[in-house]
This record gives sequence, structure tokens and C-alpha cells, in this order.
Amino acid sequence: MALRFFNTLTRTKEEFVSIELGKVRMYTCGPTVWDYAHIGNFRAYIVADLIKRYLGYKGYEVKHIMNITDVDDKTIAGSQSEKVSLSEYTQRYKKAFFEDLENLNIEKADLYPEATAHIMEMVDLVKKLLENGHAYQLEGSTYFKISTFPPYGQLSKMKMGDLKAGVRISKDEYEKEEVGDFALWKGWDEKDGEVFWGTERGKGRPGWHIECSTMSMKYLGKHFDIHTGGVDLIFPHHENEIAQSQAVTKEKFVNFWLHNEFLMVEGKKMAKSLGNFYTLRDILNKGYNPMAIRYLLMSTYYRQQLNFTFQGLEGAKNALQRFYDFMDSLTRVKKQKDNAMVDELLRKARVDFENALDDDLNMSEALGVIFDLVRDVNRLMDEEELSSSDALKASNQMKSFDKVLGILKKEELVLDDKIKELILKREEARRKKDWALADKIRKEIKSLGIIIEDTPEGPKAKRKM
Ligand SMILES: [Zn+2]
Repeated sequence: MALRFFNTLTRTKEEFVSIELGKVRMYTCGPTVWDYAHIGNFRAYIVADLIKRYLGYKGYEVKHIMNITDVDDKTIAGSQSEKVSLSEYTQRYKKAFFEDLENLNIEKADLYPEATAHIMEMVDLVKKLLENGHAYQLEGSTYFKISTFPPYGQLSKMKMGDLKAGVRISKDEYEKEEVGDFALWKGWDEKDGEVFWGTERGKGRPGWHIECSTMSMKYLGKHFDIHTGGVDLIFPHHENEIAQSQAVTKEKFVNFWLHNEFLMVEGKKMAKSLGNFYTLRDILNKGYNPMAIRYLLMSTYYRQQLNFTFQGLEGAKNALQRFYDFMDSLTRVKKQKDNAMVDELLRKARVDFENALDDDLNMSEALGVIFDLVRDVNRLMDEEELSSSDALKASNQMKSFDKVLGILKKEELVLDDKIKELILKREEARRKKDWALADKIRKEIKSLGIIIEDTPEGPKAKRKM
């Protein structure tokens, strides 16, 4: 089956063909670094990661750019309320964001361009829009005139009849009902305080939308393959990106627009007022393994709403533990005689896995295929029908799947001296057949977050999930 993606632009699943043979250029709207990113944000970044990893798995060379919004209404307000400079304020959340990405095993983009480092390029793009009649100036600000761009609304499927002539919007985020000419460059006002750039557009700062048009085209060219983001970005952000870019280049901006659905928490929309608002850090602080969070965020097909629950997170933890235990037990197979069935089992799993992902990245189905494989191979192991070389093949197949999943990354287990000492004491107790003491020590070790399993090769330590 050929790889197909659901393209928001056409509202159909289309076969993916890259502009340049074997290469994909992809852009993801990155974070606004005004606070710690929440788990809904990370769903979007994990979906982008899966798209990219699967394209890599299929042999494409992917160039991936993710912007960092370090100037907008929210970052300015945040820095002012803390009485620190904008850069000092955003630096903190930018650093946290990269730590979070690493925790979730999200592959690094090729570049994370920052808005504040591209002001002159944005000014230049605004100038071009003024020159070709798609923008106008008013009281120090510059607006995009949507009536000059007839395709406006093509992504969000808004009808031009809905547009209100003469309405102007300066805010970065707004609703469909408020549609109108939007700010490309915002003239300085008191609320901006120290934050402004003196440019040929006058003293002010860029709007949010122009940032993504400028940086995506700078690093990926004026026509590229894939643009990703959450469904909340379809309007106005991505609609405006298309207008700004195509009004200048006069050619198609992006071939495939991929949008992930919302994340709900315990069945409700996440909101601070409902007490169900979680940053990634909030959940890690509850002691959950980041790989379990990754697993949960990716296990639902990206175009379906994902209901994040703590029960679901427990389930993710168990699923992950099954994978880890499976990989561990494969290393212990000693039998020599190969099983002719294994190659076929692995081949079928590979084909089914790829078919599921080729179908618009159907991750829940792809994970189902892997679970079936784990069950079947486990059964062969139990029946002693698996050889050590079969086990190695199965293990390599799992590692190949993991190029897409990214969940087998286990932290290197470094035991502190106290635990090492307890393990030795327990071994001593076992040698003396003092089972009560051995059990007591095992419990003490467990309370420190480490589980001890006794194997023919001796005790094995693993982290409590
Ligand atoms: Zn963007």
C-alpha cells in the first residue's frame, strides 16, 4: 500500500508524493514560550514526531523545522508581570521545552528558529505584501487585506461571504466569527512596554502569523511538503499563513496540511478552572515514566480526540512493561533448533504494521499488530519452540518498529550504593536460606523504586514503572 495522509486542504486521504524524490520538507508550529507546555501541546509534537519518524522509516530524508514563538501578546504580558526582560522570561520556558522534548524521546528538529531572531526577514515579507497591494497601513500597524486574496478560507472551509469587510484584528488569536483583516505588523502601544523593534515599518513588533510564513519559507523554500499542527491552528493561524505566503510567491505554499485532534482530560476539555490542566512536568512529578506518557499520547489515531485519563496512563505503563519484559525474555532464550514459523510471523507483522501506518498513520492498529506478535512469540517461548537466533530476529524486528514508536529507550539503570548494598545483603540472606530476611530486604528495595527479579543468572534490578 502506498503512504496516504489525510490532507486538511482537500479533506481527503491522498497518496503522499514528495516534491523532491526521497526528501521531505516539513514544518511544525512550535511552542509559544510563555509557560511550561501542557500535555495537549505535546500530543501535537508527538504526532509530528511520528510523521517524521515514519517517513524516515520509509527511507525519506526529512528536513524538519519547528519555530519558537518568543514574542507575542502572552510572552510580553508574562515578562511584564514578573518585571524581567522578554528574553530572560522566554529563555526559562525555552530551556524547559527542550528538556520536555528529550524526556518524551521526541527526535530533534533540524532547526528551532526563534521569532525574535528573524524580525528583519518578517519586515521584508510585510514590505512585499504592501508593494503588491495585499496589505495596508493604519495608525502605525500593517494589516493583510483578505478581500485581495480570493482563496482565503480554503483551509478552514470558510466562505468569503462570511467575511466582514473593514473589520480589523490585532490580536494573535481569534475566532472564526471575528474574521477580518489581520495584523502583520503591530505598531507599538503602551502595553508593549520595552518590547519593540525600530524598523522601516515604524516602531513595533510582528504579528504571530507572519512569523511562521517567514521562517518556514526561509528554511524550507516557498513550496514545501508537510505542515503540521493541532486543529486549533487551522483558523486563523494556518489560514493566514497560506494567505501571506501565497500572496507573495503566487504559488502553492504547502502540499499536505496535517492536523491532530484535541486532547481531553478525563472526558473534559482541559482547563485550569476545571482542575484538569496538566503540564508534562505535573505528570512527571506524580512519578510517571515519560515513556508511558509518550505511549499514551501516541496510541490513539491522531485525527481522533484523545481522552487522557490516569487510568489510561496506568494502562500505558502496563503495555510498556509488556514490551520491556518481552525484550528482556528474548535475551534469555537458549534453545538452538530454529522454528521455521518465525520468519513468516515476523514478515506478516511487518507488512501489517506498515499497512496500518501507511493508512494515515493509524497508530492504534499498528500497536495492535505488535501486541499480536508479542503474544505469538511469547507463546512459542513458553512452549520452547523458539531458538536463540529466532529470538534475536524478533528482537531486531521490535527495534525496527521502535524507530517509529520511540518507546524502547530505557533509562540506563544506575543503582546507588545503598541499593547495591541491599542487593548484596539480600543475596547473603538467600544463601543462608533466611527467606524472611531476603523478602524484607526486597520490600525495602522496592520502596526505593527498584524491583528485584531472581533469574537463573542471578538477581536482576529494574525500575518500578
Ligand atoms: Zn505557526
